Amino acid sequence: MEITREESQEDVEFIKEQLQESVKLLNLPEATYDILSTSECEVRTRLTVRMDDGHTEVFPAYRIVWNSARGPAKGGLRFHPDETPEMIQKLAALMSWKTAVMDLPLGGAKGGVRCDVKNLSNPEKERLCRQYVKEFFDILGPRLDVPAPDVYVDSQMIGWMLDEYELKKGAKEPGVITGKPLALGGSVGRFEATARGGVYVLRAAAKRMEEPLEGKTAAIQGYGNAGANFHRLAEEILGLNVVAVSDSSGGIYSSKGLDYEAVSSCKEETGTVVEFGNADKITNEELIELDVDVLVPAALGDVIHKDNAEAVRADLVLELANGPTTREADDILNDNGVFVLPDMLANAGGVTVSYFEQVQNASNYYWQKERVLKLLDRKMCSALERVMDMSDEYDVDSRTAAYLVAVKKVSKAMKLRGWI
Ligand code: NAD
Repeated sequence: MEITREESQEDVEFIKEQLQESVKLLNLPEATYDILSTSECEVRTRLTVRMDDGHTEVFPAYRIVWNSARGPAKGGLRFHPDETPEMIQKLAALMSWKTAVMDLPLGGAKGGVRCDVKNLSNPEKERLCRQYVKEFFDILGPRLDVPAPDVYVDSQMIGWMLDEYELKKGAKEPGVITGKPLALGGSVGRFEATARGGVYVLRAAAKRMEEPLEGKTAAIQGYGNAGANFHRLAEEILGLNVVAVSDSSGGIYSSKGLDYEAVSSCKEETGTVVEFGNADKITNEELIELDVDVLVPAALGDVIHKDNAEAVRADLVLELANGPTTREADDILNDNGVFVLPDMLANAGGVTVSYFEQVQNASNYYWQKERVLKLLDRKMCSALERVMDMSDEYDVDSRTAAYLVAVKKVSKAMKLRGWI
């Protein structure tokens, strides 16, 4: 998605609006808003990287810690051609709320490099990753700020960054970064954790609402890590009937349901789900408006907006993507009785297992998959309960309730530290 500077500024304003509302509802001092609406630390620099043909390229690079009152900052690294500091600010703030909603002893941060990774050779990518760590070395650390993979950053790139950090430090520090390959201290279950967390929180919400999910229909937008793993696990664990999926080339629909093995093989072989034979072709816009029980945006931000929110026919929206629903669309969905499991809760499985990875690194003892899954389920269920109880107490929608949970927790930590 093309991100213009103007849109990014609006993103930050949107966060401030929701924050202001939460501070007011919770009756917190004005200083709470002043602190939480600004970042704690922002480093903006440039990375100079020698390319394979000998010339040097310069890439703008950022790391932003939004709030660390509750613990070391945590948040992904995005290597994207349209990266802007405003987008990173927005996502760093969201990370601060997400770790609080999940009750992880962590703060929130985000980082990125404006670059087109797809056009870099592997040696160029490696030099870029190592340069990032060299430039930001002083502000990273297992007890300071811990990055992770995000857009266009894979586990190999994380491996190079870990190695560069440890070379500079002169000691092994696996907890400085998460999303590592298993051989370098990663956690089992991390690669599918976002989708699995979404499945667990959906199961808990359905149980609370006494609405069985078995046989219900679902549509998934996006067929990458979050979307494709959700397809598999939703079939396997919940018995959902996934009738539509899509990727950047378009979507497919079959009223009989789409088999995960068949669709994922097609995606792997042809690069897109659209080539799948036994289904009707649909657009990404049509997918949002399908008559399904559960709609799962798992690709881009702002895909449910004021012009299509009225047309959403799903009873429930599970936000695996970050920020898929605009502010105006949120109001429309609420008015129409569509229940939204908001991003900071629905996609928090990834950061939760990243936290488990940090815990395992710190003790240098590695867990079996059963333990990771059990603890993830427990964390997702408790977070859902916190958000729903807050929703009942303040008579607000689930996103506002998630903000209230987060702001209350972060402000309590700030008060105990004497910041307010
Ligand atoms: P990914 O790169 O693995 O997959 C993205 C998918 O979206 C691909 O299938 C791509 O084809 C599709 N896509 C791209 N443009 C599209 C368009 N215009 N319309 C429809 N589909 C389009 O990314 P991911 O890791 O699955 O992340 C997806 C979303 O989930 C992002 O918003 C991300 O921030 C969020 N998220 C991911 C994680 C995680 O651990 N992977 C954690 C939290 C949040």
